[in-house]
Amino acid sequence: MHTHDQESPSNLDNFLASVASLKQASPAPRFDEGGQSLNRGVGVLCPKCQCELQIGELAGCQFAGCPSCQSMLFQQDVFAMLIQHLRASKKDSGIMPEPMDASQLQVRRICPTCTSLFETHAYGGPGNAVIDTCTTCAVVFLDQGELTKLANAPGRR
Ligand SMILES: [Zn+2]
Ligand SMILES: [Zn+2]
Repeated sequence: MHTHDQESPSNLDNFLASVASLKQASPAPRFDEGGQSLNRGVGVLCPKCQCELQIGELAGCQFAGCPSCQSMLFQQDVFAMLIQHLRASKKDSGIMPEPMDASQLQVRRICPTCTSLFETHAYGGPGNAVIDTCTTCAVVFLDQGELTKLANAPGRR
């Protein structure tokens, strides 16, 4: 009787401890485009949905990703490196990307780090994507799906 009373709470403690360690061991959430979230906010809000951007990592490159709308904010040089890496590591799908959605060029968004207007323009390489850049901050902002589109587009790799 006395032993039983002492065992129950300690079993419960053990159980709770094992649940806590399981939680810690579980992998970090992943962004839709394949990057892993480091679960750390970067202190700036998504220009699209106002959710706080989180640090993400993809192929050794860091970016700020939106956990809600899956947009991604890159430093320009990191973005160039990542696209090159992703294109080199994927085979040419042979699938022509959909034509550029010209209405996307009319969308005006604010750079979340300096609050000036993004320049919205067609991406210079294959992929027919419309991207946002801020030359002041040297960052590139991509909507959900655009990174994949650029990485998979046929063309030189
Ligand atoms: Zn968002
Ligand atoms: Zn800026």
